[in-house]
Parts: sequence; structure tokens; C-alpha cells
Amino acid sequence: MSKIIDGKAVSSAVKESIKNEVSALKEKGVSVGLAVILVGEDPASKIYVANKKKACEQLGIISQEYILPENTTEKELLKLIDTLNSEKTINGILCQLPLPRGIDEQKVIKAISPEKDVDAFHPQNVGRIMIGDFDFVPCTPAGIIEMLDYYGISAEGKTCVVIGRSNIVGKPMGMLLLHKNGTVTICHSRTKNLSEITKTADILVAAVGKAKFVTADMVKDGAVVIDVGMNRDDGKLCGDVDFDEVSKKAGYITPVPGGVGPMTIAMLMKNTLTAAKKQNGIIG
Ligand code: NAP
Repeated sequence: MSKIIDGKAVSSAVKESIKNEVSALKEKGVSVGLAVILVGEDPASKIYVANKKKACEQLGIISQEYILPENTTEKELLKLIDTLNSEKTINGILCQLPLPRGIDEQKVIKAISPEKDVDAFHPQNVGRIMIGDFDFVPCTPAGIIEMLDYYGISAEGKTCVVIGRSNIVGKPMGMLLLHKNGTVTICHSRTKNLSEITKTADILVAAVGKAKFVTADMVKDGAVVIDVGMNRDDGKLCGDVDFDEVSKKAGYITPVPGGVGPMTIAMLMKNTLTAAKKQNGIIG
């Protein structure tokens, strides 16, 4: 039976340390502020935004919410971002994706000042991840690295396989594991003989978006299995990994819920704190 990687416990530890730092900064007269923009009525997005606001409140981070109607124009959204870019009390700006039709997501991402881009989606920050000289990392892969570190799991010299090549999860995950000296393969929907590749993995990350996609026969004995998926199976939240079967074979495994999910918001808070420290000259 595998050991469970407890994302709730790791995220609590990360958040506790952020809370202490935010409070110490406040004593020096430095505040930490995050602006969260939501356009439209997407129910999942509404929940994510509410959770981000709650996390800010818990940690003493000032959160400003901008809830805009579905018919907001691209021009109006870009104008708001422009205002927030020059707002001194706002250190991080997050525009919840997906955006309604008619708004060019890439244009919006590029409009956010790279210094305030706490999601790390701006091309400048993406490029900096590539060369290994970065301040911000997309929150989900950053959270996974944090969990591996917490459990003393090193990627050095390990065979690491990532299933999924999205800009938000798969690609940055692969780069981070490479920076940690793993030997990385990124798989996708056109990959041939997928299970032959996944069976070689010492560390296997599943970011596919398909319920119970990774089955026990795809996993090597003793592997570390990280499940990013958030899917519904008969109305129940479940990951990309067939947890019941794979957990009999893996060395370590993340559950869903309670694995990667709680880490994502914690890392958003960490990126916001980093932004505030940089903007106030506390770190270089
Ligand atoms: P995405 O943009 O839809 O990407 C899915 C990836 O899976 C694509 O690269 C796709 O390949 C690949 N794929 C699809 N079918 C495949 C197959 N049969 N074999 C191999 N690869 C296949 O999704 P995402 O944004 O990366 O998210 C992935 C999952 O993680 C979703 O369930 C999402 O809800 C979840 N998620 C969770 C968190 C969290 O905080 N826990 C955060 C972000 C995302 P192609 O590129 O070839 O199409």
C-alpha cells in the first residue's frame, strides 16, 4: 500500500509560514494585496474566486475582487488591468480563466504586468521558467514541487513522466522536474504506446482531465504518482488516476480531493507574497 501525500497538511504548513511573513511585513508598514478579476457567470470560476478570497483573508492578504458582467468588452477589461498595473497597493493580479467568448485570453494575459503576474502565464514569465531564472511558477506545478520537497522526494536522476502538455500544468511541470535534474518525458494525446512509457516512471504526473485514466497496469511498482485531475465520476470528484487500484502498487500517491488541489491556492498566495517583497525591495 502506498504512502499518501497529504496536500492539505502541506498547504497548511505553507500557508502558516506565509501568514507569519505577511504579519511581519505589516509591522514594517508593508501590505500585501491581490486583485482577482472574474468576468461572467462560470460556476466553477465563481467557486475558485471565492476560495482565493477566503485564503487571502485567512493570511492577512488584502484581496480586491472585480466581478464583471458577461458582456464586458475586451477594451473595458484591458483598461481595468492597466489601472491595476499602476495601483501601488496591488502586488498581484489574477484574471480567472476561461474568459467569455469575444475576449482574447492571450491579449489579457500579456496586458498584466509581468511583475504582478502571480499566475505566471505572461510570456516573459513563461520564458524565465524555461531558462531557470524565475520569480513565479504556475501555481499547480509549483505546488507539486513543494509537496515532493516536503516529503523528501528528489527528482534527481529519476525518470519523470508527465501526461498532459497544457501551458498551465503539463509543460511547466516538465520544466520544473528538468530543473530538479529529472529525466523528463511529456506525453499527450498523440503519444504512441503510452503505458510503455508511463511504466518506466519513477515519478508519474497525470494532468489529463479524464476520470481514472491512469490504471494500475500503467504504473511501475513503488512509483510516486501525482494526480492533478479534477473530474466528476457519477457526480463525485475524482482524479485522473484509478486511486483504489494504483494505491496498491505506488510508493507514494496524492488523493483527490486533498492532494494537488489545496496546494494550488497556497502557491498563489506564495507568489503574491513574493511579488510584494520584490516590489518593496525586500528581495532582489
Ligand atoms: P488540458 O488543457 O485539457 O490538457 C489535457 C492534456 O491531456 C492535453 O495535453 C492532452 O493532449 C492530454 N491528453 C488528453 N487525452 C489524452 C490521452 N488519451 N492520452 C494522453 N494524453 C492525453 O487540461 P489541464 O488544464 O492541463 O488540466 C488537466 C486536469 O487537471 C484537469 O482535470 C483539470 O481540471 C485539472 N487541474 C487541476 C488543478 C488543481 O489545482 N488540482 C489545476 C489545474 C488543472 P493534447 O495536447 O494532445 O490534446
